[in-house]
Amino acid sequence: MEKTKKFILPESDIPHQWYNVVAEMINKPQPYLNPGTKEPIKAEDFYPLFSEELSRQELNQTDVWIDIPEEVREQYKIYRSTPLVRAYGLEKALDTPAHIYFKNESVSPVGSHKLNTALPQAYFNKMEGITNLTTETGAGQWGTALAFACKLFDLELAVYMVKISYEQKPYRRSLMQTWGAQVIPSPSMSTKSGRKIITENPQYQGSLGTAISEAIELATQTPNCKYALGSVLNHVSLHQTVIGLEAEKQMEMAGEYPDIIIGCFGGGSNFSGISFPFLRHKIKGEKNTRFIAAEPSSCPKLTRGKFRYDFGDQAGFTPLIPMYTLGSKFTPPNIHAGGLRYHGAGSIVSQLLKDDLIEAVNVDQLDSFEAGVLFAQTEGIIPAPESNHAIAATIKEALKAKEEGIAKTILFNLSGHGLVDMASYDQFLSGNLVNYSLSEETIAQSRDNE
Ligand SMILES: *Cc1c(COP(=O)(O)O)cnc(C)c1O
Repeated sequence: MEKTKKFILPESDIPHQWYNVVAEMINKPQPYLNPGTKEPIKAEDFYPLFSEELSRQELNQTDVWIDIPEEVREQYKIYRSTPLVRAYGLEKALDTPAHIYFKNESVSPVGSHKLNTALPQAYFNKMEGITNLTTETGAGQWGTALAFACKLFDLELAVYMVKISYEQKPYRRSLMQTWGAQVIPSPSMSTKSGRKIITENPQYQGSLGTAISEAIELATQTPNCKYALGSVLNHVSLHQTVIGLEAEKQMEMAGEYPDIIIGCFGGGSNFSGISFPFLRHKIKGEKNTRFIAAEPSSCPKLTRGKFRYDFGDQAGFTPLIPMYTLGSKFTPPNIHAGGLRYHGAGSIVSQLLKDDLIEAVNVDQLDSFEAGVLFAQTEGIIPAPESNHAIAATIKEALKAKEEGIAKTILFNLSGHGLVDMASYDQFLSGNLVNYSLSEETIAQSRDNE
């Protein structure tokens, strides 16, 4: 029989609704708290920062399905559905009986899954009369996605880019500028929080936490301007469920159901996107799928962090979020998977991990690149350094399946391609990349200090 390599849905099968897992969770995430009063946050409390619709989505615990506006679906058609691909080449190289599938989110024009939420975020802001957005970006993927989305929906965008990435990834800056955004390296002298950090530590290379503080500060001080976030928050994970909803139909086309689902983990959005629609059936007791979040060993909030209330940013502008965290003051080593250098995890995935509905593993930088190179050599696509963590975890499970002689079906999310990250591959190939091991003492210092 002829083998099918990839499964693509007709445009009419692009989802019409996002899936809101919170509405079906038995243990809901604990509420966000106002850091001053310790009272639960209400949707209105977010209005100064986010569009009102996004604020309501953020706290929506009742609607299982939320409509995708037609205007957003129209733009999704630029690149969706994304292909579900059977990784025959990788399977062969591993000589595993496992069936490996990946959902290829790297085919979006910006090269990652981030556009799935950038489009609705730009749209809802536009609908509410907003003219300007601010945001932060680590490796640059989120900034590029929002830059393109803002161009499509006619909004101005200012992006604070983590300084280390601004220097390591100049092409992401050019991409953002090509799509019309203004890009500022963070920490910068343009905000109070940036100036404070530069004064205290002039050599500081930046972190997502700092860039978030700067973007929030600018948004709250500019008229008709709101802030947008590319990960961590519930509404971001909600928008990303288009990934899993499509994958569910595509796995059906393939005539299989995943035993294991894997995503790399920064703040949790692509992992949530591929997982939640399948997790639905685990919550209902219909399936016993394993869900594995793959994070870097150098920023191990899920595997070595603590579940507690913490800020989403370094300066403490956000509400208190119930999360697995390394402490909001934690500065991860400068690994190349910039999109995974975040101190905490979103509140939904944190609750799911606490309830053992999902699992987490951590992956060393060198192992991640070794996996990425094998994937490139067998499947052709150069993965984003972030995605390499999911691939490494997939390979580990596929080899375990080989040892056990079980034909497991594994699905992982290829969150992005690495064509703008070749400097990191250069370093790996020339032997200049290293692992970072964090002592318990280093982690405990920021993790346990509330
Ligand atoms: C941003 C990013 C990530 C990490 O963010 P999540 O919110 O955890 O998905 C992973 N992969 C790529 C390609 C990214 O751009």
